[in-house]
Amino acid sequence: MTRLLSSSGTVSPYKLHEAENDNMQYRKIEKTGDVLSVLGYGAMRLPTKNGRTDEKRATEQIRYAIDQGVNFIDTAIAYMNEPLVGRILGDGYREKVKLATKIPPWKVNKPEELETICNVQLENFKTDHIDYYMLHGLTHPGWKKMKEFNALKFLDQIKAEGKIKNAGFSFHGDKDLFKEIVDAYDWDFCLIQYNYLDEENQAGREGLEYAAAKGMGVFIMEPFRGGNLTKKIPQEVQEIWDQAPVKRTPAEWALRWVLNHPGVTCVLSGMNEEEHIKENLRIADEALPNSLTDEELELVGKVRDKYRELMKIGCTGCRYCMPCPAGVDIARCFESYDSMHIFGDKMQNKILYAIGLGVFHEGEIAYASKCRKCGKCETHCPQELPIMDLLDDVSGEMEGVITKVLPPVFKLYLAIDRFMIGRKTSKTEG
Ligand code: SF4
Ligand code: SF4
Repeated sequence: MTRLLSSSGTVSPYKLHEAENDNMQYRKIEKTGDVLSVLGYGAMRLPTKNGRTDEKRATEQIRYAIDQGVNFIDTAIAYMNEPLVGRILGDGYREKVKLATKIPPWKVNKPEELETICNVQLENFKTDHIDYYMLHGLTHPGWKKMKEFNALKFLDQIKAEGKIKNAGFSFHGDKDLFKEIVDAYDWDFCLIQYNYLDEENQAGREGLEYAAAKGMGVFIMEPFRGGNLTKKIPQEVQEIWDQAPVKRTPAEWALRWVLNHPGVTCVLSGMNEEEHIKENLRIADEALPNSLTDEELELVGKVRDKYRELMKIGCTGCRYCMPCPAGVDIARCFESYDSMHIFGDKMQNKILYAIGLGVFHEGEIAYASKCRKCGKCETHCPQELPIMDLLDDVSGEMEGVITKVLPPVFKLYLAIDRFMIGRKTSKTEG
């Protein structure tokens, strides 16, 4: 049965014209009136074959999800697959979905390039409009740059021109910054990282509720924390899941926990396995808001506590220690380090550390090794963590060849890309 969550938080049967079947739950954004499937397709991790995206399989997977009622597809210029997503949405699929993409602040050198990049994106998708358009991955430096470049006026302009329908932002900063950004513009929506382990991190539950109270659509990324909450489950955690009277996979618990929040509009999952798509579709039909019992929420809480116990550092991600005058992103350094120790995938976590803190951090390296031992951060940490010593541990284990090689390679790629954008901008101006 297709269901729609109304603004009052109640749920009623609902038939969506575009959906060919009714095995999906939909939620409505009060501000825009759009009705979206609670499961959105994240195109960040499409299936690969011989090191390249497997276009045939990706096409089949995404079109299958759309046929089953998914009507929201999210990508980004940084995922380097906008033309591919455009092709996947051929054969009439574009009209069945709301298309979302993002403009990366770190790629923009001057205000005029905002428009050039947006036009390139429209060309990439072979579409005349983007339904949900975001400033990508805002943190303090990205937000500062976007304000300096008058990006908010630019959003007004492209909205008035019909190039985009809804303006939003994706976010990786702290709660205070989140509220500042929410209050700075008449946003239609936001995209935040949220899962039961990150309830207090980044925008967190507080940010989610703050944005939802303003009628904004709240989209969720990383419901499985990059897959960490669903694979290589520590024995101690599995034993807690096994206590549940209703047997569910860790993925189902994680997704149901996010969908339990009435303020959540749509959860993006970067799906690339057929069985995961089917499982997520089933959960998206069944997991109604406020449907988890107190006992079930308690169980998820126990799992969260166990993960925290297993963390080597135990940083809660509150970010009270930030900003660091030397540019260290202390909370993310500790998050990567703890992830590596809990979930065990050393190479994946080292790459994520190098990319997250060495490339997509507004061009600034934010590695642990940048600490200059001024001691300022330690006076602000409510957990009283010996931050300086812990950062030594982080740099010792996380840094090396990968952190040295990846940023310059990526920067070269970005420089070439910026050069191409600059040429396009000059031609347009000429
Ligand atoms: S001690 Fe290191 S991490 Fe802490 S504020 Fe100073 S430079 Fe930054
Ligand atoms: S190191 Fe301390 S202050 Fe900084 S984010 Fe972690 S818990 Fe919060």
